[in-house]
Amino acid sequence: MYVSAMGLLDASGLDRLLAEGCTACKGKKLLFRTYVDARLPIAGAEPNGPITWAYKGETFLDGVFDVSCPDCKHVVFHADVCPRCHREGALATILETTNRFVVPEKCPQCDIPDLQYLAMIPARVLYAGVRAEKARTATELLDPGFHGVRVQCATCGLLDAVNAKCPLCDAPGPIRNRPS
Ligand SMILES: [Zn+2]
Ligand SMILES: [Zn+2]
Ligand SMILES: [Zn+2]
Repeated sequence: MYVSAMGLLDASGLDRLLAEGCTACKGKKLLFRTYVDARLPIAGAEPNGPITWAYKGETFLDGVFDVSCPDCKHVVFHADVCPRCHREGALATILETTNRFVVPEKCPQCDIPDLQYLAMIPARVLYAGVRAEKARTATELLDPGFHGVRVQCATCGLLDAVNAKCPLCDAPGPIRNRPS
């Protein structure tokens, strides 16, 4: 399979989906599921505040793996590949496995327990016509589908990151760059 640097759904693909809406019931709402970056404050290796989104429009689009009708459940777009590295057939396992990346108790350099954790998690965004609602997720730190990417200390900076392999499916790198 040819793997480009682009995501599976591009801007014109998005426009086409939104213009058509649900091809089964002709409804105009569509539910997008996408793997995107999120920040989570942690303390003593436990969540210490709400998840906040850390993605832009292009990476939202890049991570889309499923688009369906919220009313009749008809699926108008679906990709089984890893949303990050495009490895074939990897999606189901990614959604079912829990985090492999270390969640430190504290900063090994300054001992502060409060750290910033960056992860990729599945978000849901409901579109009504071209208008998108705020992204939501039900995936928390210990849930399947939550995959850590890097951890940093406010004082010491970057502590650790998943560099050599895909943070979602664990495939060996190098992995493609995402649009920025
Ligand atoms: Zn429908
Ligand atoms: Zn992957
Ligand atoms: Zn530190």
